[in-house]
Amino acid sequence: MTQTGAMDAERKMQFLFALRSKGITDKRVLSAMEEIDRGPFIRGLFAERAYEDMPLPISCGQTISQPSVVGLMTQAAEIRPRDKVLEIGTGSGYQAAILSKLARRVYTVDRYRKLVGEARELFEDMELHNITAMTGDGTRGWPDQAPFDRIIVTAAAEDPPSPLLAQLAIGGIMIVPVGQSDAVQSLIKVTRSDDGFDYEELLPVRFVPLLEGLGRE
Ligand code: SAH
Repeated sequence: MTQTGAMDAERKMQFLFALRSKGITDKRVLSAMEEIDRGPFIRGLFAERAYEDMPLPISCGQTISQPSVVGLMTQAAEIRPRDKVLEIGTGSGYQAAILSKLARRVYTVDRYRKLVGEARELFEDMELHNITAMTGDGTRGWPDQAPFDRIIVTAAAEDPPSPLLAQLAIGGIMIVPVGQSDAVQSLIKVTRSDDGFDYEELLPVRFVPLLEGLGRE
């Protein structure tokens, strides 16, 4: 029988090898991804595929991102230990859990109450006390807590939403997939300086769309 749930030594080695081979070289990012077991973030049928480098279905018709894409986004965000980070698109909570190992404080928002509820339970179980999760429309950001040193958007927008640009601190970095939802999108790194925003294209990606308003579940 195949073993599910636990990241045993061999799976862990293969998982980390796959991440390195896809270009994740930052030691802090690798060790955060070693610490956070992806298994518990995937429920049901697909749980046994948790250690494969592929996106998988989660509740509410959404997906948990591919681990190497999570790693590349996290690495590109250059998170520092004192940073306050905003994630749009909590989904399973996996990306937020990794961010919580690298940053001082993580705020994460999803438009599905059910996903936020399930993710909160996992954060509690894993004793990740520096994450705050909220149900809401992430296209508006989280004005009460702005500005953010880093913003990671894990759903694709046609353009980076302007409230998110406004909530990015000077010197801050935002990572966001940009493009049509049914096509290949580009992962963009936005850097805010005193005089404005600088945009760098990182890699082609495919994310579920960033939708306005709340989800039904
Ligand atoms: N980061 C997640 C993967 C997210 S999938 C993980 O680690 O598992 C993208 C998520 O973005 C979905 O859960 C979807 O509900 C959410 N989403 C889409 N539009 C949104 C919006 N306007 N505000 C908040 N969340 C949104």
